[in-house]
Amino acid sequence: MCPQGGIGRLEGPGEGLMGFALFQAIVEKFVKDGVRIDGMSAGHWGEPLLNGDLPRMIRYVRSHPAAMKRGSHVRVNTTLNALPHPEELMQSGVDSVVVSMSGMRQDVYSRNHRGGNAGRVLEHIGKLAEIRKREKLADVQLRMAFHDYVYNREDADAARAFCEKHGVRFTLIRPMVIGVEGAAAFAKENERLGQRYRAFMDLDRELAGMRTFDNGRIKDCRLRKKRVTVNFDGQVMRCVNVFERKHFMGSVFDFDIKEIPHVDSAICRTCADTPISWR
Ligand code: SF4
Repeated sequence: MCPQGGIGRLEGPGEGLMGFALFQAIVEKFVKDGVRIDGMSAGHWGEPLLNGDLPRMIRYVRSHPAAMKRGSHVRVNTTLNALPHPEELMQSGVDSVVVSMSGMRQDVYSRNHRGGNAGRVLEHIGKLAEIRKREKLADVQLRMAFHDYVYNREDADAARAFCEKHGVRFTLIRPMVIGVEGAAAFAKENERLGQRYRAFMDLDRELAGMRTFDNGRIKDCRLRKKRVTVNFDGQVMRCVNVFERKHFMGSVFDFDIKEIPHVDSAICRTCADTPISWR
């Protein structure tokens, strides 16, 4: 589900943390170009809570008089293995914290979340739920996104019960052949790669949902039309599902934000011809 460790691992110097000054400058760029933000999702391919400035960034964009639309939503996707500033995070103006989980038992969890600690994640969920209650932050949504892999189904019931006990929303999320490059590679070599995918997911269900643009179901791409994806270093990527550095489009400061959806990209043409389920 994530390019950090799987088939579509990010190539090149792709890892880092965005500094507060760059974040501020990007928000100002949106304002200057007359684009109001109606949603912000922090994390992209990395772990946003490793960035100690995240609560400050959220507070900044939330309190900026011209940056966000009324009713906008700020979401943090996290593995929650690290929780450096729990109170600040919950009080930052964040709307939802979505925790990626793949097992309640350590041996099950670490099969996908390698190097992570299931017990610590659960402890952190409990801590956030406790802060929400104590600080009367009922509007902050806490959600566990439990990956519906083929090997962890026994743990899903325990995860659901844990969530009920802590007032946390539980959702099962469907694993997919992720990334445009990953899907294109899979289309070419589905036998070899299929064996790897089958170890994790219901590949037949995935295959049944795969469509190209031109077989009648899809007219355009919401990711291109509605979202701007900015890497930690200020580079714009075509979308969250494109991972290779050669598809980076240049610095966000070199564009008029309103023009980004209209920039022609070779990867979009590849994508349109590739059978993909998540589109
Ligand atoms: S069409 Fe382009 S923007 Fe949309 S998912 Fe494919 S690569 Fe991303």
